[in-house]
Amino acid sequence: MTRVRFAPSPTGLIHIGNARTALFNWLFALKASGEFILRFDDTDAERSRPEFAEAIETDLRWLGIAPHRIEHQSKRGALYDAARGRLVAAGRLYPCYETPDELDRRRKRARAQGLPPIYDRAALQLTEADRARLEDEGRRPHWRFMLDGSAVAFDDLIRGPQIVHTDAMSDPVLVREDGSYLYTLPSIVDDIEMGISHVIRGEDHVTNTGAQIELIEALGAKLPAFAHHNLLVDAKGEGLSKRLGSLSIGALREAGYEPLAVALVATLTGTSEPVAPHASLPGLAEAFDLSTVSRAPARFDVAELDAINTRLVRALAYEAIAPRLAAMGISAGQTFWDAIRDNVGKFSDVAAWHALVAGPVTPIVAEADRAFIAEARAALPEEPWDEATWEGWTDELKALTSRKGKALYHPLRLALTGRPDGPELRSLLPVLGRRACLDRLS
Ligand code: GLU
Repeated sequence: MTRVRFAPSPTGLIHIGNARTALFNWLFALKASGEFILRFDDTDAERSRPEFAEAIETDLRWLGIAPHRIEHQSKRGALYDAARGRLVAAGRLYPCYETPDELDRRRKRARAQGLPPIYDRAALQLTEADRARLEDEGRRPHWRFMLDGSAVAFDDLIRGPQIVHTDAMSDPVLVREDGSYLYTLPSIVDDIEMGISHVIRGEDHVTNTGAQIELIEALGAKLPAFAHHNLLVDAKGEGLSKRLGSLSIGALREAGYEPLAVALVATLTGTSEPVAPHASLPGLAEAFDLSTVSRAPARFDVAELDAINTRLVRALAYEAIAPRLAAMGISAGQTFWDAIRDNVGKFSDVAAWHALVAGPVTPIVAEADRAFIAEARAALPEEPWDEATWEGWTDELKALTSRKGKALYHPLRLALTGRPDGPELRSLLPVLGRRACLDRLS
């Protein structure tokens, strides 16, 4: 059974780079008919907020991700306590009493001596009596996992063969002084207990994987497969921080982007696949393959998002459009949509074009065009109107006035729509109808 997880800490909103990780997991699960677990890494009670968890869930659902299961680490403490007990019993988790200041001084000293600033395991030398004395002084231990210092090799599904040298790392702290857990132990315990088959996440976690593999082995469990993907960066090559408001999924939704456009850009940027439209997430899942993910940073370009959004919106079938028009309170039908679709970049643009059709519109008529516009009004053909009406009308005006090109068309556009640009008048005319045209031309 393919089972993956997306494991955000609900300490902020998710941005398009986090969505990339979520989508990689979701598409991977879809393609393999597997399961996707949304797991909130909320063991940091101080920084985790239920509002953020809710917002993340909303954002994922908007993107089209429907988790098969949702879990909160804050409710799974008993499992972590049990694993902690096993590690202590096996001698792999040991108590340390150094304060942050002490550790800092030692790191500086090591650096000054040209040694790597890794933890020296001084706590292992403490006797029972030393520990009792420290506890009497009111100190409480934090707990470190004893790395076995091996070269941990794993075959990353994106990056290929990897080796992490855990002898160059400090024994990671798994349990804080107050007894709460840092990210590593709960994450590993959950991956094991939930039967996660593939851990797909950002490449900022590659080095963590060394210690994590040792931890999985210390707990006697089977290793999942790992895939670490490149991270989205902005135009300047900088990482997208959680605080980068305009690229949060919520902000992109508010800005009127199609969820599929955001998903396509989040997924396909930084792969060998073109950032091109797909009909749906399941369609994208079929084409999705971890082997196409590049090793170079994935540069997010908002122009690419705009372009793909435009292509998707314009390609929407009218059946998909009708309920959305209705939701905007627009009763105009398919002729309206067909007239304006090529001028829509975001669906919300529809509102402005609808206002242009429904009016009121303030016609613009230059002094020099007054007589021409009056003539045009008089020559307006009788209904019924269709796409050919415009050509018949303007041909007649051409003959009547000997105007042509821009001098012929532009004053008509300004008078009929009150603006210098917009949808093709050929398509717009039947939507406006004779009554509105007569009004605007007077
Ligand atoms: N909470 C971690 C993060 O957001 C999860 C990392 C992982 O997928 O293991 O970075």
